[in-house]
Amino acid sequence: MTTSDALVSRHLEALRTAVTGGVFVPGQDGYDQARQAWNLAVDERPAVVVIAESPADVARAVRFARSREMRIAPQGTGHGSAPLEPLGGAMLLRTVRMRDVRIDPVTRTVRAEAGALWQDVTVPAAGHGLAALAGTSPNVGVTGYTLGGGIGWLARRYGLAANSVTAADLVTPYGDLVRADADHEPDLFWAIRGGGGSVGVVTALEMRLFPVRELYAGALFFPLQRSAEVLHTWRVWTGTVPDEVTSIGRIMRFPALPEVPGPLRGRAFALVEAAYLGEEGAGADLISPLRALGPELDTFAMVPAPALQQLHMDPPRPVPAEGDGEFLADLPAAAIDAVLDMAGPGADIPLTSIEIRHLGGALARPARGGGAQPNIDASYLMFAGGFTPTPELDAAVRGQAQAVKEALAFWRASYDYYNFVETPAPDSAVLPPASYQRLQTLKASYDPDQVIISAHPIWPTRLGTRTKDS
Ligand SMILES: Cc1cc2nc3c(=O)[nH]c(=O)nc-3n(C[C@H](O)[C@H](O)[C@H](O)COP(=O)(O)OP(=O)(O)OC[C@H]3O[C@@H](n4cnc5c(N)ncnc54)[C@H](O)[C@@H]3O)c2cc1C
Repeated sequence: MTTSDALVSRHLEALRTAVTGGVFVPGQDGYDQARQAWNLAVDERPAVVVIAESPADVARAVRFARSREMRIAPQGTGHGSAPLEPLGGAMLLRTVRMRDVRIDPVTRTVRAEAGALWQDVTVPAAGHGLAALAGTSPNVGVTGYTLGGGIGWLARRYGLAANSVTAADLVTPYGDLVRADADHEPDLFWAIRGGGGSVGVVTALEMRLFPVRELYAGALFFPLQRSAEVLHTWRVWTGTVPDEVTSIGRIMRFPALPEVPGPLRGRAFALVEAAYLGEEGAGADLISPLRALGPELDTFAMVPAPALQQLHMDPPRPVPAEGDGEFLADLPAAAIDAVLDMAGPGADIPLTSIEIRHLGGALARPARGGGAQPNIDASYLMFAGGFTPTPELDAAVRGQAQAVKEALAFWRASYDYYNFVETPAPDSAVLPPASYQRLQTLKASYDPDQVIISAHPIWPTRLGTRTKDS
């Protein structure tokens, strides 16, 4: 179902009258800025961009699109825009101006509008001694992250962000504003908790917060030449730690850019990053086997919860980037060797980072009344990526990220992580099979015409034999 730009322009005034937010079409001032995703390597060219100001705007935009047989791609930041199908003929419905956040310290919950960034939640929540299940980056969107699962620094203790959702407001593909929670629209409530944004446009999420004021967290930096002993020691160590420890083993090649701190600029390191939900003394004991290796730089300290969002050194501003990831069923020593062969001291690769996140703990246990990702059936999570300021680098980084995935293919889990698969892939590749099948059925009843374009497509049951290319 597509709509020509000409049709859009004939009805443009009706859309502009209907919504209070911005409406932009190709050739118009502001279109390029409105369509720009956070990932600058992604070139989205929708027939129209609507910058919604309110849930009512979202509903009106959805009804407008539907009446013109136009498909809709909901989007906040555009951090997760890489896997999206081409948006020609579609409406890009952006929630960037809907960033209202309300913390309720009594019920320990937050209500965040669909365009809120994680920093909009973590900073005010900390004022009440509370923490959300945020990801590593302060500027990733709460909604896209949570709809796709959400694995952050508290994940082994408290599980996926998706399973901390208590309610969602969303606009259905027919333009109706509904509330989904345990007692209302239970199917929609189940679907949005890990199944991506394929059944409607979310306008707000409500989530549980957790009593976390400070943690013992930081990173140990070792020169890349020591990557073998560091990553092997980290791998063995992950088998010994309690659920209160979430950690990442990583190889990083820092670009020689002025904004990179002097001691790191232009250099390559093996790192261990970790967060421990507890006091300094116990934390120091826990990391002592890693500290005993003698890091060049050691940043571990007691930090307030929002500081976790600086720990992973995610880019503070939009950048062009490529990358891809996969769940790993297991991480034996041979898997670390495979990473070292690809990215160790002898390698000349354009990847900025190859990281392996330790899963398990609460992530492995089915959440009570959980959603489309009730738990994670994998022990580790790999992501490889890099910055791509030139087209040549774009191809090189994409190729190398795929090469890392292939090098680890033997240990790959039965499906991949929704939020870390940055290449076009159907939902069946990034969700547990039973969840994918239920989502197919729900898609058939809630969005049989495939109005909503989501990061990873889901084909309704009656189109079950269709492939993404047909
Ligand atoms: C620097 C960086 C760090 C990251 N760190 C982590 C991490 O620690 N843990 C983790 O799990 N993931 C992480 N991610 C992955 C991230 O969670 C995904 O890219 C996620 O999709 C981003 O959500 P967003 O809302 O910012 O992006 P968007 O691109 O705006 O949204 C992504 C997708 O979510 C859906 N969506 C968004 N808003 C709506 C809505 N209102 N209604 C319906 N559907 C909607 C759409 O399908 C959209 O295509 C990271 C990504 C980056 C770039």
